[in-house]
Amino acid sequence: MGALDDDIESVLYSSEEISRRVSELAAQITADLDNNKSNNTESSPPVVVVGVATGAFLFLADLVRNVKLPITVDFIRAESYGSGTVSSGDPRILSDLKMDILGKHVILSGNIICTLKKLLCNSAHLSHSGASSISVCTFLDKPARRKVNFELVGEGKYYCGFECPDYFVVGYGLDLAELYRNLPYVGVLKPEMYK
Ligand code: 5GP
Ligand code: MG
Ligand code: MG
Repeated sequence: MGALDDDIESVLYSSEEISRRVSELAAQITADLDNNKSNNTESSPPVVVVGVATGAFLFLADLVRNVKLPITVDFIRAESYGSGTVSSGDPRILSDLKMDILGKHVILSGNIICTLKKLLCNSAHLSHSGASSISVCTFLDKPARRKVNFELVGEGKYYCGFECPDYFVVGYGLDLAELYRNLPYVGVLKPEMYK
């Protein structure tokens, strides 16, 4: 078995760029939460940062370590792609939150949004579970294939690490058939890796 790096054709976002950008996102989230808190007279429950398993695990870890306010963390799991590089259809929730999010502000954090199918599924689920507002914080946004748009729930905001060109990318949590998630950067695979 060769080194993991040997399968990568080019690096799109280096681990230094990622680290810088994720710190910026966390600073923005911290500032927004702080601002919301001072606008609220009653003490509001802590925000729930919901990571979309498995892909968001590295992003979430780096993000929340840089948010300088009390937050809580939970996970949901939704599946849409199977093991290929093309979406297999409508995603469904495979594993639910542990926490009760009724009346809470949620920050839905995933690694990438593309057609929006998965985001809409997750967001609808959080909404049905009673979230009062839902912010979306995505590490990557790949808008090239978008046919629909989305509306944020309540006072929710939109945060995005990088707007990504229309490649199939791996690393920093993003997989091909569950591999490559542990690459510390985001890269494009050599074409022969798909076969
Ligand atoms: P959507 O439902 O927005 O089309 O796709 C979101 C999901 O598709 C992501 O959570 C991810 O699992 C997968 N996905 C979309 N684009 C890519 C990509 O370029 N690389 C990888 N590894 N997964 C992707
Ligand atoms: Mg996935
Ligand atoms: Mg995947």
